Amino acid sequence: MTLPSWQDKSLGSTARGALWLVSEIGEGNIFTKSQLREAFPDVAQIDRRLRSLRDHGYRIDTSRDDPSLLQQEQRFVTQGADVWVPGKSKTPRHKNSLTATQRAQVLYADNHLCRSCGIGVGEAYEEGGLELAKLNVARRKVLDPDGNVQHQLIAECKRCGVAGGPDREVDLGALLDLVQDLAPIEQRLFAKWISSDQRTLSPIEKLWGIYRTLPDASRTAITQALNEMIGNTDQGTGK
Ligand SMILES: [Zn+2]
Repeated sequence: MTLPSWQDKSLGSTARGALWLVSEIGEGNIFTKSQLREAFPDVAQIDRRLRSLRDHGYRIDTSRDDPSLLQQEQRFVTQGADVWVPGKSKTPRHKNSLTATQRAQVLYADNHLCRSCGIGVGEAYEEGGLELAKLNVARRKVLDPDGNVQHQLIAECKRCGVAGGPDREVDLGALLDLVQDLAPIEQRLFAKWISSDQRTLSPIEKLWGIYRTLPDASRTAITQALNEMIGNTDQGTGK
C-alpha cells in the first residue's frame, strides 16, 4: 500500500508529521528539531503535534529517554497507528477504570495538589470546618490544537469534583496561541515560573511593589526620572 504524501496539506498536521517520520526519517533513525521545522515551516507547534503521536502508539525518544541522543535530537523508534487513514486518528477511547498505578502516577505528576483549587491532600479548606481534602483522579476535557477532543487525567479534590462543571474544558490550541503571542522576554519569564512551579517576581514587579510603599516625594522622584528616561511628557506623579 502506498502512503499518502506527507506534503499533502489536505491531511491534518499530526497525520502529516506521522507520514514524514515514516517516509522521510524511518524507524530507528534520528531527526532534529530544525529538520522538523524546516519540513513544516507552515505548521505552528509541529513538535507538539509529533509528540501527540505517542497517544497513537508511536515511540519517539528524546535525550531524556535515550542518553545517547543529543539535546536537539529525537529518535523515531516505532511506528504506531495509521493516523492518516480516516477514523484511525481518533484518540483511543478512555477506559472507565484506572489501575492503582495509573492513579498514583497522576497524583504524583500533579504534585498531590488539586489542580482546580490548589489544595494539597489532607489539608484543611480555608473556610474552616473539619473536612480535609481528599484527592481523586478526574478527567479534564481538552481540545487539542488539531481540534480533537481528548480526556486527560488530573488530580482534583472531592469538593472541586462535585462543583466542577463543563466550564473546566481546556482549549489547548487557544492557550498555545496566547503563549506564542507573549513577547520573548515574557516567554522566558513564564518558563522560569513553570520550572520552579511558582511565580517568581520579575525585577519590574519587585520595583512596583517597592514603589507603591514610597513616600510621595520619593514616588515623584522616581516618576520624573522614569519619564525622562522614556521621554514621556505626561508628568504623572502617581498620587
Ligand atoms: Zn479542589
